[in-house]
Amino acid sequence: MIFLSLHRFYTSMMKITILGCGTSQGVPVIGCDCEVCRSHDPRDKRLRTSILVQTEHTTICVDAGPDFRQQMLRENVRHLDAILITHHHKDHIGGLDDVRSFNFLQNISMPIYASPDTQEEIKREYSYAFVDKSELYPGAPTYNLIDIKDNKPIIINELTIEPIPLVHLKMLCYAFRIGNFAYVTDFNYISEESLKKLEGVEYLIIEALRHEKHYSHISLPEAIEIAQRLNVKKAWFTHVSHSMGKAEDVNKTLPSNMMLAFDGLSITIEND
Ligand SMILES: [Zn+2]
Ligand SMILES: [Zn+2]
Ligand SMILES: [Zn+2]
Repeated sequence: MIFLSLHRFYTSMMKITILGCGTSQGVPVIGCDCEVCRSHDPRDKRLRTSILVQTEHTTICVDAGPDFRQQMLRENVRHLDAILITHHHKDHIGGLDDVRSFNFLQNISMPIYASPDTQEEIKREYSYAFVDKSELYPGAPTYNLIDIKDNKPIIINELTIEPIPLVHLKMLCYAFRIGNFAYVTDFNYISEESLKKLEGVEYLIIEALRHEKHYSHISLPEAIEIAQRLNVKKAWFTHVSHSMGKAEDVNKTLPSNMMLAFDGLSITIEND
């Protein structure tokens, strides 16, 4: 008798590109003469925090801060299936007007996944895009706002993305997990329940603002602790402030499987 197994085995490749890994002001900071802001090392030039996720059939980005246009041009992105928003601070939504190019190229309203609070803020910030059709300026961006809900995976083509809630001072912020990869930024507290949802992640991009503690972001020692607790294969730190120090110096002090992210870094991950 032949036993037929219906298991299907497949492997998919996913490419993650760091569009930016700087804190809200970016690095260098306007008017600052510290050694990091004066550094000529390209790893010390950090646009606002965002990533691009690409698979064979799908391209999405997480957050669209004030450097969104520059980031899309630098990485030659010509198609975006969706934008996921972690939360509504300006360094994460300040570039949404520039989805106009994709509205035009793809002839669609851009799907934007965001929490209800973040959607309210987007509507306030980009109010001119939410007027009656008859009032809409012909060049205005168009958005298709879609709810992010706890425990409800986001499905975009072949990607299944798990939103994981974080606490960012008093604000809800979402981390996103795709298989063995997770992107976790802008928080000062993560619950045990959310940490559990990160178990099994092998490749982690997590924020680390600076060495010292901060009221709404985690510090480098706290980020290292989370990466070690999750026992990840590799961790990259993002949302980095100029006060962290130069990448070259900081990297020497880190565990061998961890490093500061840098703009343009791309990581290829195999998901089973
Ligand atoms: Zn931020
Ligand atoms: Zn500086
Ligand atoms: Zn924030």
